[in-house]
Amino acid sequence: MASKEKPLPANAQEHAIQYSLPEEKIAQGFAHLQHFSPAERSTRANSFLLKSIIFGFCGIIVPPHIIYPIAGIIVGFIGQAARKREKYLFLGGSVTCPACSSTEKIPKTNEQFPFLHFCSQCSARGEVSCPTLSDNL
Ligand SMILES: [Zn+2]
Repeated sequence: MASKEKPLPANAQEHAIQYSLPEEKIAQGFAHLQHFSPAERSTRANSFLLKSIIFGFCGIIVPPHIIYPIAGIIVGFIGQAARKREKYLFLGGSVTCPACSSTEKIPKTNEQFPFLHFCSQCSARGEVSCPTLSDNL
């Protein structure tokens, strides 16, 4: 099966990340992050709100008719607030698992650091963090 990896966006930056297990075992790796300026965050958030409302109103032809526009509006505003807080997008990375020494690929996620990751080989639960990334981007 051919892999369908999308090319990285032009503003993607490489960062060093840490994969740390509860037993104080820490491994280093790298990840690509796409940083958003305040204007880009606002654009992404408003675009999500608009799409949710449009999809909600498209669902009005399917019974029960009134549920879809209401759900679209609610989901749109919740998603808009969440996207306004996202300062970066984790595009994927790679670490070596400190427990089993296998190379572990971490898929794209919109979670912010630190987040949990389970090793696909040994199921060790670790925390992925980025020590070089400051909170006030
Ligand atoms: Zn492992």
